[in-house]
Amino acid sequence: MIAFDSSFTMTIDGKGEEGAATLPVINPATETLVAMSPDASMAQLDQAVEAARRAFPLWRARPLAERQETLRRMGEAILAHLDELKRLLTSEHGKPHADAERELRGAAYWCATYAGFSLPERVTLDTPERRSVTRRVPIGVVGAIAAWNFPITLASWKVVPAILAGNTVVLKPSPFTPLTTLKIVELWREILPPGVVNVISGGDALGPAMTAHPGIDKITFTGSTATGMKVMAGAAETLKRVTLELGGNDPAIVFPDVDVEATARDLFWAAFANNSQICVAVKRLYVHEDIYDAFAKALVDYAATVKVGDGAEQGTGIGPIQNRPQFERVMALIEDARRQGLAFLSGGIGRPEGKGYFVPLTVVDNPPDDSRVVREEAFGPVLPLLKFKDTDEVIRRANDSEYGLAASVWTKDGALAEEVASQLDAGTVWINETRVMSPFTAFGGHKRSGIGVENGEEGLLEFTNVHTTVTRRQAPQA
Ligand code: NAD
Repeated sequence: MIAFDSSFTMTIDGKGEEGAATLPVINPATETLVAMSPDASMAQLDQAVEAARRAFPLWRARPLAERQETLRRMGEAILAHLDELKRLLTSEHGKPHADAERELRGAAYWCATYAGFSLPERVTLDTPERRSVTRRVPIGVVGAIAAWNFPITLASWKVVPAILAGNTVVLKPSPFTPLTTLKIVELWREILPPGVVNVISGGDALGPAMTAHPGIDKITFTGSTATGMKVMAGAAETLKRVTLELGGNDPAIVFPDVDVEATARDLFWAAFANNSQICVAVKRLYVHEDIYDAFAKALVDYAATVKVGDGAEQGTGIGPIQNRPQFERVMALIEDARRQGLAFLSGGIGRPEGKGYFVPLTVVDNPPDDSRVVREEAFGPVLPLLKFKDTDEVIRRANDSEYGLAASVWTKDGALAEEVASQLDAGTVWINETRVMSPFTAFGGHKRSGIGVENGEEGLLEFTNVHTTVTRRQAPQA
């Protein structure tokens, strides 16, 4: 029986391990302690890597059907404990119960869906002289490093395809949100052979140590662009493969033919769901000048109907910012906007009273393109609403960013939408929606939003090396 109250252990070689020390995990809605989480020592990192190395030849040799069946069972284990996991995720993250449940169900769906995937094999040359076949083989030990905004989604996007392909994993959740991840891997101890998925939690030293570790063959990382650059530099020492899912500053472009109220509602959630702590949140909202005022009013009116509060309370639509450092960064960005004399359509006010990392939902009225609220990824509820006049102009402004993660186009004119979408520099462009992710669809960033992709067959292949056999049809003869 798994206890969900207070005991949190890492999983190393299939066994529960206390940390060498502990770290507090704080509920961001109440600023109270949720639990102490293990803080792994470097020796424990070595043990986890050694366990993964020992498990690798055994796991890769298992038939694909067995690995697929294992994934199915891993998904079922999440669903069997959905209620406890949901409460735990809300308490350590802050997001509303409904969002926590959606995240957990998503991870289970990823397990079930990837259980139907297999590795491709292609005959690349077939002539009278020779035949060559290109297969995909696992890489070895994968180090998976996740951010705090979607702890379970991000971990599952890494662990699930990695082990389907035959790799073994050392997973590190963010120190801000380790608990639900630790519990899920604890549930999996009964399902996975020892060493196939290890999870270690800890402080700031652990990520760089994984990146540099000679026993890890690949790093799959989700986090900020600044940290991603460090990961890439650290991985170069041992020539590790890397997949980097990094920051975004996604533009949405709204043409004047839309239904203003309905589009404002959808774009409210596109920008503010999860308190805007989404890599693909809309972070720059360009609205055609003909409907700008009506749209701004509809957006702000809708915002006033959404309850911001403790995610554990009924009716909460948006929780707190997940952690104090992020809260301070977002408040500093609002303060800077105020100092610059920018106008606010909502929010923009100082630090709220009381407990919890709550930031007033802030919409900035048509700030200049070179202001910080437009240039930077806020990763909090600060949305610049920007006026545009013509299509070429808005495409140029939307592309004027170091990021290129995703974008969206909103119009009833299908041809216009396709034309604009084709010109946006982003890994994903949605038309009349956002944030739709699928295990069948590759997702990744252009420019400084990342390297490589997750999801889809392309995402699975990132956990493989190419292995080609070239066979001369006739052996050498005297
Ligand atoms: P972060 O970069 O601070 O931390 C991410 C992870 O890296 C954490 O587990 C952290 O402990 C670890 N880490 C910290 N320093 C490290 C180092 N030097 N080497 C290796 N690992 C290290 O990011 P965050 O604040 O947790 O997450 C927010 C960022 O993540 C935002 O920029 C957001 O856009 C991005 N993000 C991107 C995606 C995507 O798929 N593109 C998804 C979610 C979040």
